[in-house]
Amino acid sequence: SPPDGPPAPPGSLFGAAPRVAVRLPVPVDAPYDYAVPPDWDPPPQPGALVRVPLGRRVEVGVVWGEGAADVPEHKLRPLLERLAVPPMPAALRALIDWCAAYTLAPAGQVLRMALSVPEALEPPRPRTGYAARVTDLSETALRATDARRKALAAAAAWPPAAPPPTAADLARRAGVGPAVVKGLAEGGALAPVPVVEEPAVPQPDPRHPGPTLSPDQAHAADALRDAARRGFSVTLLEGVTGSGKTEVYFEAMAETLAQGRQVLVLLPEIALTARWPERFQARFGAPPVPWHSDLPRAQRRDIWRAVAFGRAPVVVGARSALFLPFPDLGLIVVDEEHDGAYKQEDGVPYNARDMAVVRARAGGLPVVLASATPSLETVLNARAGRYAHVGLSRRHGGAEMPTLETVDLRAQAPEKWDRQGVPAQSFLAPPLLDAMAATLARREQTLLFLNRRGYAPLTLCRACGHRLQCPNCAAWLVEHRQRRELRCHHCDFRLPLPERCPACDAPDALAACGPGVERLAEEVAARFPAARLAVAASDTLTGPTAAAALVERIEQGAVDIVIGTQVMAKGHHFPLMTLVGVVDADLGLAGGDLRAAERTFQLLHQVAGRAGRAQRPGRVLLQTCDPDHPVMQALAADDAERFLALEAETRQALRMPPFGRLVALIVSGLDEQAVIAAGKALGRTAPQAEDVEVLGPAPAPLAVLRRQHRHRLLLKAARSVRVQPLVRAWLEAAAPLPPGVRVKVDVDPYGF
Ligand code: ADP
Ligand code: ZN
Repeated sequence: SPPDGPPAPPGSLFGAAPRVAVRLPVPVDAPYDYAVPPDWDPPPQPGALVRVPLGRRVEVGVVWGEGAADVPEHKLRPLLERLAVPPMPAALRALIDWCAAYTLAPAGQVLRMALSVPEALEPPRPRTGYAARVTDLSETALRATDARRKALAAAAAWPPAAPPPTAADLARRAGVGPAVVKGLAEGGALAPVPVVEEPAVPQPDPRHPGPTLSPDQAHAADALRDAARRGFSVTLLEGVTGSGKTEVYFEAMAETLAQGRQVLVLLPEIALTARWPERFQARFGAPPVPWHSDLPRAQRRDIWRAVAFGRAPVVVGARSALFLPFPDLGLIVVDEEHDGAYKQEDGVPYNARDMAVVRARAGGLPVVLASATPSLETVLNARAGRYAHVGLSRRHGGAEMPTLETVDLRAQAPEKWDRQGVPAQSFLAPPLLDAMAATLARREQTLLFLNRRGYAPLTLCRACGHRLQCPNCAAWLVEHRQRRELRCHHCDFRLPLPERCPACDAPDALAACGPGVERLAEEVAARFPAARLAVAASDTLTGPTAAAALVERIEQGAVDIVIGTQVMAKGHHFPLMTLVGVVDADLGLAGGDLRAAERTFQLLHQVAGRAGRAQRPGRVLLQTCDPDHPVMQALAADDAERFLALEAETRQALRMPPFGRLVALIVSGLDEQAVIAAGKALGRTAPQAEDVEVLGPAPAPLAVLRRQHRHRLLLKAARSVRVQPLVRAWLEAAAPLPPGVRVKVDVDPYGF
């Protein structure tokens, strides 16, 4: 208010009847209006967390702005309570709005991701501490026993800077029972004091010495440090596996930490990259603060608060860490930026890599995208100059890149392979077996890569041809022999391994088809009986501890042959691992979705990067039935450039992302006929616009999932088209859906 005017009435920011719009974590798009109680002075600012009535419930929401003036006064309910947490930062609110507008998910649903730990909004429960009230027991009516004297002395000697001790603390220090302390308090010798304590957060030290960087690395680090001193920018940090990207972006993080600002590092599959925290600790002298959905709730609560109150300098997390309320974020690093795990498929379908850029722009801060095999999207952004590009061309310490050869499975012992080139008996062709034997003889290690959990991907009856299928999904059941059961990898349905065919009742007729890691381990054990084997898959490594233990065994040379799925593909450096055998290089190409080739190239490149570190050269053998496939050719020639050029050409010709836009509408429901009808109805009202095309409806990949039938429409548009308004109008104009049928929108579907 002007200095000489009358004092402003409370809430005058919002006019005569103070009202605010509050976003609530419920699946609606619009905020709700509430009246600000007259005694709330000053009125809550945007970002404030408040408790509000909603129907008969009480919800926690975030003040988003001024309330609409046209809601009649008597319809407004008052805010109930202000929560004692810092306001949600404007940049996070902007991210939530942007994410909702882009993905077409209701903004309230996006907000829910940011309020995923409601208990973090409550102050920690105070505990009782004790302070000495008297200097001598004679000042009280208490009899001066030895135990009491000791306990009082311990309280008097407690360092004033430390939080007051609990009864247990004092008892332990004095060597007495806790009842003695309670007795002193009741007798007036000790004063109970409520203590609110937040757990300590490790503080990384940016000046803690790191490794000496090579000239190449130092040059890259300079560029990133430079970016970390300025505002919004996106930098692609590209470098072959083992070139030291992590060490380089640590330097940018050190710069940001030295400025006293917060850093967020996103990693895919955080729980499995056990080595990252250790490396962070080696560089910064303290462990990083993790964030992912597998953490215990109490820990998530503490971390959420530590971030919100600015006490956590660094968080390393899975994609959901992007929605943490950093008040002073100064840098985001997205490691393995190409990884498909950044795309969330359930709930709000967003890509955390893309949203990291949005968050950075909203907050005016730099983001680093690191990868050995960057996505086509990112490479094109870098080429167009929208992203800066920093490269590391060599492996650290002069280690050579491995040599890569294809093994043409069609040319190998043809009697052993059936029509499709699928091995009937053996999954390892002679060239790979020879290489394994030679590696063993040198006392070096082999990684056999097969991205298939379990024993066999398909079980069929030799008597009647029946294939064992999941009752809930359009998928085969996968045999897990160790657990003697069949499992669906989509809905987790489990069935004890039957003795007879469920269709024809023939005994002993069920046959496993194709290999999973367990079956491969059987063959390896038979061929190399003296070798020490380890199987590494997400179901055999139950959690980060098991994964870390295995990594340690491999590092110590206690394993000769590792048989692993993609959990073994990334992040590890095993000096003795000189051979990588890719058992079925064609596996990821089957199905042929938009990103199949790109994903396969990235994955196999990453796996190949496990071979040959330190001073021992590595060798990679790719078993394939299609050695002329561009992916195999590019891998063998170590020519990522050519692969990307070809991939770009193909996508451009098809007007597919990133040259065109794609939105998937998935219609799903228990009743197949209703789903088909709803899909057709949507197809009839599809938007008609220039440069827009709607494909389908057609059965979606995985046409039945958890008993839900799924049909799909694909909207394909030129890059210049803004698809969100089109899709929004389409859905608004569509006929009401029959009961039990849902439509899910997926903007930029990842694999399809
Ligand atoms: P990338 O992320 O590019 O695969 P990393 O950062 O993981 O590479 O580095 C590969 C390995 O080399 C790691 O074990 C790392 O500790 C080591 N390394 C990289 N740069 C240096 C350096 N300048 N000094 C010492 N060790 C380094
Ligand atoms: Zn299933």
